[in-house]
Amino acid sequence: MSTFIEIVYFSTAVLFILGLKKMSSPVTARNGIVWAGIGMIAASLVAFLEPGVLAHGNTGLIILAIIVGSSVAYVTAKRVAMTDMPQMIAIYNGMGGGAAAAIAAVELVKLASGKASDITETTQVLAVLGGLIGAVSFSGSAIAYAKLQGLMRKTFRLPLHGIVNLLLFVATLVTGAYIGFGDAVSIELVLVFFVMTLLLGILLTTPIGGADMPVVISLFNAFTGLAVAFEGFVLNNAAMIIAGTVVGSAGTLLTQLMAKAMNRPISNVLFSSFGSASGAVVEESIEGSMKETEATDAAIMMAYAEKVVIIPGYGMAVAQAQHKVQELTQLLEDRGVTVKFAIHPVAGRMPGHMNVLLAEAGVEYDKIVDIDEINPEFPSVDVVLVIGANDVVNPVARTNPDSPIYGMPVLNADKAKNCIVIKRGRGSGFSGIENHLFYADNTRMLYGDGQKAVGELIAGLKQL
Ligand code: NDP
Repeated sequence: MSTFIEIVYFSTAVLFILGLKKMSSPVTARNGIVWAGIGMIAASLVAFLEPGVLAHGNTGLIILAIIVGSSVAYVTAKRVAMTDMPQMIAIYNGMGGGAAAAIAAVELVKLASGKASDITETTQVLAVLGGLIGAVSFSGSAIAYAKLQGLMRKTFRLPLHGIVNLLLFVATLVTGAYIGFGDAVSIELVLVFFVMTLLLGILLTTPIGGADMPVVISLFNAFTGLAVAFEGFVLNNAAMIIAGTVVGSAGTLLTQLMAKAMNRPISNVLFSSFGSASGAVVEESIEGSMKETEATDAAIMMAYAEKVVIIPGYGMAVAQAQHKVQELTQLLEDRGVTVKFAIHPVAGRMPGHMNVLLAEAGVEYDKIVDIDEINPEFPSVDVVLVIGANDVVNPVARTNPDSPIYGMPVLNADKAKNCIVIKRGRGSGFSGIENHLFYADNTRMLYGDGQKAVGELIAGLKQL
């Protein structure tokens, strides 16, 4: 039987890896998710055959938990709006970390009560490490969820937050080391350890706000993978080790990419509460005023341009304007205008958000240009059309060292000859700060819902 279980676990690992590989292209991504899903179902079913699982007499409870969990996941996943996906990812991510921490807690409580006959010194240490990382990921992701869902303030700091965090971090490590290497572990100490780890996750995440959230979300993703891998060693479960390692390494790579996109070392983002000023929202006076334009005027400006660059942001996702944007692109190209899309790595609310939407609308990949490539081109661009983007085009990131987003690379829309910004009103971006681009001499505001405004531009173009 154990050979059969190992073969199934090995096959699921292969399915996870192939699934992940397929997810690297939008064309095969859907297929990749199905493959990985089949692997997950196989791994979950074969876990019932593990020695001792059915003998505990908890089979009914396990099946009930699976039914409740799957039903909630199915219904929420079916209902969730595309714009709410990041919150959902954050919370599911946290659930994985929480599950790994729960496994660690059970093993450590067993150890403390003298019931763990099979735990070795190494697995004891790994259980503590997995418990620490998993619990931090769980509570930190819950905070990320609350921020993205608008349930709590973007940034929250205690007095002396950095010092509190540092002390808590050291205390958690010392307690963890005592439990991991100690012989006389008590249940109370295990409880204290998990309370501290959960609190650490909360306090690490509350001050991180503004534009750093994507890095944090992908970092917790990597944490969850690592925690699952560690607990895989504790339970001697090959599927958990491989799946956890795959998620951990993919999450680490993504975190590095996102941190590079934000031009911040990961340590700076994660430990920003240990002293950095990022997260404080700085209000400052801006010279000039916002100048409004009409769709017909904006359409004329674009129709007679040689080169137009479209910058989509979170508002395009909210308005579901991507299909209209593609229609607009085709009309402009029919008139001989060169159209490109400039994508900022953290535009929207999840990595690759804009690419997914544009791919869904049928925008060709070769028109989509990333920030490093497009930024030198802006001075030669006749019209930039910003649709529902804000933070990713805010020039203060280049110019004001006191700004919470200072240092983050932004799309240099302000350097183009003309800029048209579509948004509904004076709403700020995710980081909550004013955008100097909107007040610039060469910027015109086209107020309205993204889809409606682009529809008006299309109508304007058709009349020419
Ligand atoms: P922002 O959140 O900075 O700005 C979006 C703008 O869209 C708002 O100013 C809003 O203004 C406008 N808007 C909202 N709804 C509509 C609508 N229906 N029609 C037209 N406009 C609309 O978006 P960006 O994409 O520029 O930046 C993303 C931000 O989110 C960054 O700070 C990033 O760090 C953060 N983030 C990104 C994540 C990721 O993984 N990509 C994850 C978590 C956070 P108004 O209300 O006036 O219409």
